[in-house]
Amino acid sequence: MKKIQMVDLFSQYQKIKNEVDAGIQEVLNTTTFIKGGKVNEFQANLEKYLGVKHVIPVGNGTDALQIALMALDLKPGDEVITPTFTFIATAEVVALLGLTPVVVDVDFDTFNIDIEAVKRAITPKTKAIVPVHLFGQNADMEAILELAREHNLFVVEDACQSIGSEYIFKNGKTVKSGCIGDIGCTSFFPSKNLGCYGDGGAIFTNNDELAAKMSAIANHGMVVRYYHDMVGVNSRLDSIQAAVLDVKLPLLDSYIKARQKAATAYNAAFADCKKMILPVVSAFTTHAYHQYTIKLVDVNRDKLRQILADKGIPAMIYYPVPLHLQKAYQDSRYKAGDFPVAEKLAACVLSLPMHTELDDEQMAYITENVLSAIEVC
Ligand SMILES: *Cc1c(COP(=O)(O)O)cnc(C)c1O
Repeated sequence: MKKIQMVDLFSQYQKIKNEVDAGIQEVLNTTTFIKGGKVNEFQANLEKYLGVKHVIPVGNGTDALQIALMALDLKPGDEVITPTFTFIATAEVVALLGLTPVVVDVDFDTFNIDIEAVKRAITPKTKAIVPVHLFGQNADMEAILELAREHNLFVVEDACQSIGSEYIFKNGKTVKSGCIGDIGCTSFFPSKNLGCYGDGGAIFTNNDELAAKMSAIANHGMVVRYYHDMVGVNSRLDSIQAAVLDVKLPLLDSYIKARQKAATAYNAAFADCKKMILPVVSAFTTHAYHQYTIKLVDVNRDKLRQILADKGIPAMIYYPVPLHLQKAYQDSRYKAGDFPVAEKLAACVLSLPMHTELDDEQMAYITENVLSAIEVC
């Protein structure tokens, strides 16, 4: 049996090696490493795939979030609402820009931002909501958009884990993740659903004005060369990464299908197990399964991870500490117990191997071992 990994990038690469190598070689031959044709091609192809007016390629997902917030002309002390159960980058950029991250609790079933909690957190200083489509399924965007309209707030989606998944509006219309709010942000970190072979990210928007502004911000605030209209940053997707992404983009839907197939196999194998709660998918979204995350019920998680590790099965905790309990974000506003759902999740979640290359033999081995190990933990 092939070695089991959380993400098997090597096996995936073997299947597309010829195309990827040729794409990289083409960049080497042209030596257009920055802002080359490859970046423009990928940008146009991603716009088409997403059905969005503007894609702005940037250096990574964290930069995408930062540039998005920089474009909103917020003032120090303005409040930005984010879930407390997410990867740190979501709130990190808020803090870096001198804005105030206001974290709220999440929904136990879906891990995504709790709409009632958002409502309670809105103050006259609130300027934006940053929902995170955690693990690959979309947050309740229709409810978030309604709140945003009511209170005149920007919505910046953290779609770093959900690219390719679809939000289904009540009227049946579907929109790709990250293209629902004012701005969407994604990451092409190698292990993400559309990963490159280094760092990369992108911003999506249908708003021409914001698009122009974010392009300028990502390029030192420059519109006309060497004339700087605003304070910007240097954040670019490079041509080699664009070449890799352009090979992988046409495969993204098949990659998501492979992940969904693995999730279905996990669900079937674990259906009768009382010691775990399986992922719950909301009716208004498809699930891209960036992670397959179960919630353990009265199980010693460390012991389970150890037994699995001894059998060659990795399992990860995303995320062990909610933002409001992180040392760097300790704040007189928050204390342990404030966000009980996120705290409970942090204590019971476990993500199992999830990627595009899991075969039947590996799936059977993982599920059998999880089921037997969980009974003794
Ligand atoms: C990966 C990730 C980011 C950051 O992306 P980078 O490309 O690593 O900077 C931000 N938010 C979430 C939810 C992520 O999963």
